[in-house]
Amino acid sequence: MLATQEATHGVKCTVSQRSGCRLTSRQHHPEDTVIMLGDHGIGGGGLTVIAGPCAVESREQMHRTVSALVEHGIWIIRGGAYKPRTSPYDFQGLGREGLDLLAEMKREYGVKVITELTCPSLLGPVSRVADILQIGSRNCQNYDLLRAAASAGLPVMLKRGMAVSVGEWLSAAEHLMAHGCLDVILCERGIKTFETVTRNTLDVGAVAALKLETHLPVLVDPSHAAGKRELVLPLAMAGVAAGADGLMVEVHCDPDSALCDGSQQLTLDMVPELVSRVWALAPLQKHGESG
Ligand code: PEP
Ligand code: MN
Repeated sequence: MLATQEATHGVKCTVSQRSGCRLTSRQHHPEDTVIMLGDHGIGGGGLTVIAGPCAVESREQMHRTVSALVEHGIWIIRGGAYKPRTSPYDFQGLGREGLDLLAEMKREYGVKVITELTCPSLLGPVSRVADILQIGSRNCQNYDLLRAAASAGLPVMLKRGMAVSVGEWLSAAEHLMAHGCLDVILCERGIKTFETVTRNTLDVGAVAALKLETHLPVLVDPSHAAGKRELVLPLAMAGVAAGADGLMVEVHCDPDSALCDGSQQLTLDMVPELVSRVWALAPLQKHGESG
């Protein structure tokens, strides 16, 4: 039927139409959405770099990492206090203590913070600290969690599920918007494929397609795609070249002793090259530097 319509009327049926998306669709909202965090905008031609450790592990780790990132012009800090881990025997995050350390970073360095919401019952404590709520890959289609996150009145970053199509991902974003959260950021973090040379396969085609389909900002997480720190820079550059509005990158002051994802976290001395190379690439795209 759709194919017939397209053939007869020359009507193109977009991914967002096929997945029943209205609010996320660029047809509904042609202008890029720009999400204001302080006086900086995410989306709309700026290039945002978010960085920080995979998990909040200790006061010392956070001070060492965040103070260095701030010196390199990075002012949105990531760090999980609640970590959804594949194994129940692995570090699950510091929980409330981790949230307190994130709050301390905000007070001490004036940074903004993004951290993951893993279940609706944690919405109160997490949203008191977070400036952006993160929905992780494993929860991309957890609709009860999306509804809870949408009620917080905060921007929400929705990471792509590792086996979720672009249409399904946009439908998940539509859930957030339909429940009142208009400030949605999409984050491509790699998908499961047969390939094992990287941890996940960064889908740069999805980034380019999303920039056509939706007005929402699209970031790339090269860290969870790469799985090893040597591959983070080229994947970050590929994401920006494909049109991403920014990056979320894992950085740790001592990644070899990290409690999770050590092999993919950048060392502090790798940060200047990342920042200078992606910001050098940005003017070749439509991006301007926005921190
Ligand atoms: C993360 O960013 O902390 C994370 C757990 O990533 P993902 O949900 O993409 O696996
Ligand atoms: Mn991680």
